[in-house]
Amino acid sequence: MGVAEVAFALGFTVSFKGIAVFPPRAMNAMPILEIHTDQYRVPLEAPLSDSTHGEMTDFGLIVVRLVDEDGRVGLGYTYTVNTIGASAVWKVIESDLTPLLEGADPSAIDMLWQRMWWHLHFVGRGGMASFAMAAIDIALWDLRGQRESLALWRLLGGSRPEVPAYAGGIDLDLPIDSLLSQANGFLDQGFHAIKMKVGRAQLSEDIERVRAMREFLGPDFPLMADANMRWGVDQAVSAANALSQFGLYWLEEPLVPEDLEGHARLGRETRVPIATGENLHSVHEFEHLMNYGHVDFPEPDAATLGGITPWVRVAKIAQGKGLPVTSHGIHDVHVHLLAGVPNASYLEVHGFGLDRFLERRLQLKEGKAIAPDSPGHGVKLDLEELKTFREATYSSGLNKGAC
Ligand SMILES: [Mg+2]
Repeated sequence: MGVAEVAFALGFTVSFKGIAVFPPRAMNAMPILEIHTDQYRVPLEAPLSDSTHGEMTDFGLIVVRLVDEDGRVGLGYTYTVNTIGASAVWKVIESDLTPLLEGADPSAIDMLWQRMWWHLHFVGRGGMASFAMAAIDIALWDLRGQRESLALWRLLGGSRPEVPAYAGGIDLDLPIDSLLSQANGFLDQGFHAIKMKVGRAQLSEDIERVRAMREFLGPDFPLMADANMRWGVDQAVSAANALSQFGLYWLEEPLVPEDLEGHARLGRETRVPIATGENLHSVHEFEHLMNYGHVDFPEPDAATLGGITPWVRVAKIAQGKGLPVTSHGIHDVHVHLLAGVPNASYLEVHGFGLDRFLERRLQLKEGKAIAPDSPGHGVKLDLEELKTFREATYSSGLNKGAC
């Protein structure tokens, strides 16, 4: 046993590069007793398409459950497109992160997050490592909410549960009449804002489609457009300027997110607000984008950024720069996060949802999503129903398989 392990066993904090790596064990801590990690391949109800991924028929779902001494279960999850990378994310949790969590104090979330980050540092600092950390971090926050009998949005300091929400259409290949009938369906569901895909082979097709949507929805209806990184910077500048006549609320991911110079140029040469960030996987990447590139609506995804802990950090950095923050995916968790910060913009609600496996679906009222008031995030998955789609499972702890 090395010095660090001895110190940890005795409950001391060990510092590495100025960062506490091992959290001290609180005298009254109720440690994590069990860790369950499951990987699923979930078919989509209907194939979806965008300009980056082409046709999507299923998604990978990795679910982590942490059980404390009182039998409370914190649930966290992440996802991948078409299941690509799902087994690698599951394996990192099973082999590399589970041993760090056994017996740890789940209330020391920041410390555990740093511990995971440095443990994976050489192969991590974003990418798939952030997906694995996300599932665990979300489970830790859920557990904390349950232990403190507080809904996640209250735990974060929110004062009201309502968040403006938009319907995210994944509709690049829909003909225009289907696009409009989809929009009509969103209006019937109570949405007061809609996002559509752009990035067709010809810019003229995008212009025709956005014009049709604008005419259908009226001049003041919040309409966003998402290019899913389809363009190079010259194309993006041309497209943004051509689409500016339609009063878009934002243009999302015109470029790959690491092109800081390209984003800076978009900020200088176009007038359409830019949203991006769903393909950034660390706080540092967001800092670089905000400091050296350009973004009007940072769009972190807790499920791919490393969890709720870094999501809140990005929101606070954005707040310091006078920027709102939006979300991507897992709307059942993000509704809490946006309700918990003062600089919230719209919540994305889209067809990648887990609705058919949820005990409680996202509630919408007059264009706003309502975060539930039950302890934690309140997401309850029907694991029996999901079992059909399970591809891998692992349990660690004293009472394997008890939950
Ligand atoms: Mg997007």
